[in-house]
Amino acid sequence: MKRDEQSKSKQTLVVHDGHDERHHGAVTFPIYQNSLFTFSSVAEYEQATADHVNRHLYTRGNNPTVNELEKKLAQLEGAEKARCFASGMAAISAAILSAVQSGDHILCIDQAYGPARSFMSTYLRKFGIETTFVDGTSLESIRTAIRPNTSLLYLESPSSMFFQLQDITECARIAHEAGVLVLIDNTWSTPICQNPLQLGADLVIHSISKYISGHSDALGGFIAGRAELMDRIFHNEFSLIGGIMTAQTAALVMRGLRTLPVRLKQQQESGLAIARFLERLPFIRRVNHPGLPSHPQHELARKQMSGYSSLLSFEADLAPEQMKEWASHLALFRIGVSWGGYESLVLVQAMAPKEGSSYVRLYIGLEEPDDITADMTAAFEAIGAYDDKG
Ligand SMILES: *Cc1c(COP(=O)(O)O)cnc(C)c1O
Repeated sequence: MKRDEQSKSKQTLVVHDGHDERHHGAVTFPIYQNSLFTFSSVAEYEQATADHVNRHLYTRGNNPTVNELEKKLAQLEGAEKARCFASGMAAISAAILSAVQSGDHILCIDQAYGPARSFMSTYLRKFGIETTFVDGTSLESIRTAIRPNTSLLYLESPSSMFFQLQDITECARIAHEAGVLVLIDNTWSTPICQNPLQLGADLVIHSISKYISGHSDALGGFIAGRAELMDRIFHNEFSLIGGIMTAQTAALVMRGLRTLPVRLKQQQESGLAIARFLERLPFIRRVNHPGLPSHPQHELARKQMSGYSSLLSFEADLAPEQMKEWASHLALFRIGVSWGGYESLVLVQAMAPKEGSSYVRLYIGLEEPDDITADMTAAFEAIGAYDDKG
């Protein structure tokens, strides 16, 4: 793990822009609030249209503000190119569509993000594309599920509910032997804690709406990969479906991105402190966080990741009704979907693994970890958790 070396260069990258005095020395990158770009001669216009992957003609193609963000994100992922989209799902659907044709088969891990699973299993069905779901922790299951018409292997490591991992290097090796493209959702790790392209994945996608923007005020997504794949996506799914990111959003995201490495440094520490705190409680059966030595794939996490973010879950020997009461007692956690902002969030799920137990997902924000554990302790006391078991 070369965490320090890596985060140092990434930290520097996000605070230094690539622009120069062309922008009158403006310290932040300007927002190019324009739909089109004009030329002083037909010859110049024709030159630009001949190279419209790289030139500025119309904002549903290239916009300098969005391009600046794309450049930074590509560098953070170690990719040749990146393209930003209006949301994570716009990026996911575009990336999947770029890899399949009618009659193809997709292999997807069973813990992938719900809407991505629905897009593959339900929506793509009407185009004659079939998807099967496999246990991503078993390389053998992946190997045997590949069919002659499989064109895409869809991964998400760690997954964002149960935090299961896939061995990215091995998955890529198995897929590439069969001529299958590998796409991975890297949202949990952010480009700071894991770079799947270096491990053999072909395309990496992110929801920018989570840690990357980081302030619960913007939606976005991006795809990164080799120039050849990315240029094909630019001409097809990016330009034709048109789910692009606006310049205003790109500026907001760049502002959030500047503090991504420092936020994650703090949140990695808080997330682990809270995971360890929960693990010690007698009525908590299991804490799902890949950074804990008790995680069944902790060694793999250490091998392929350089750090951890702060979304985790736990299973408690307390009834779902009791845990819902607990969540309502928390003063520092708000109840809601999504994650990656400054504020802590909690979700209690009915999907209990066993009768009489509960499943809770926590997002640890930027609050002081001691305040968070004190808040949790007070809420456990309020529901009588210590009286029953402790
Ligand atoms: C939120 C999320 C997405 C989708 O991103 P949106 O920006 O909400 O469209 C995809 N994958 C994961 C893991 C997510 O958490």
